[in-house]
Amino acid sequence: MIKLGDNMKKKKLKRKFKIIFTLIIMLIVLLLIIVPKQTEEHKGKENTKVEEKNKYEKISYYRKENLDRYKEYEKENKNLSLEEIITNVNIGLDNPYYTNTLPSTNLNTNLILVNKYNYLTEDYVPENLENIQTTYARSGMQLVKEAKEAFEELSESAKKDGMNVIAMSSYRSYDYQVNLYNNYVAEDGKEAADKYSARPGYSEHQTGLAVDVYNLDLPYTSFEETEEFNWMQENAYKYGFILRFPEDKVDITGYQYESWHYRYVGKEVAKEIKDKNLTLEEYLAKKVEN
Ligand SMILES: [Zn+2]
Repeated sequence: MIKLGDNMKKKKLKRKFKIIFTLIIMLIVLLLIIVPKQTEEHKGKENTKVEEKNKYEKISYYRKENLDRYKEYEKENKNLSLEEIITNVNIGLDNPYYTNTLPSTNLNTNLILVNKYNYLTEDYVPENLENIQTTYARSGMQLVKEAKEAFEELSESAKKDGMNVIAMSSYRSYDYQVNLYNNYVAEDGKEAADKYSARPGYSEHQTGLAVDVYNLDLPYTSFEETEEFNWMQENAYKYGFILRFPEDKVDITGYQYESWHYRYVGKEVAKEIKDKNLTLEEYLAKKVEN
């Protein structure tokens, strides 16, 4: 009985041992299957994050603070290249015009940016305003000294080629712009006026670096039809001026094409903008901030 009992106990023990052993093996197998899978998934998630981040960071003018906006803008503009996405968001184009506006920086420099996202305050008057000589302008036209001298050189050079490039409007004060804009709104309504005229504070003419030209014969709005326009296309940059609102950049500048409106940015920048077919907005958005 004792021996038999012992045998039975042994058998029971063996069975228990087998069950425990099988359970342990199953557990090990399960662990071997599940653990690596989870790590892979985890790694996968991290990789996509890194990839997404790197994707934008690869562009030299990527701005960390705009990361979420790049992602949002890309979702709605899948046809655009990565460079375009970064450029447009840096400009502010992911927001409607006249929203999320900021006061202009670089005041009293050639690179001051005034557009539908960047404005000048009511009291901003540029330093060193000077009258353009009446040989080259209607009377009382002012520009900032450096721009004024450059414009006179440009106009003189055009004259030597038998052309008239004459300033018909240049510096405008904030108050002047208030009147101008209000008149346009009264005539055409706000929506239309916003397309061709700047709201007070948002006009580049307040910088003292912008000039509207004509050739004395035709109204300035027909400047594109003149020989002088072609001359400007070839030569304006040599004097530091750019065509500010080109025909193919309406979506970037937010302004209708203006063949008569030129902006002084300095010779070096004007050349780069012309060579790379940029607008001032794009030039500044692609600038790497140190
Ligand atoms: Zn203008």
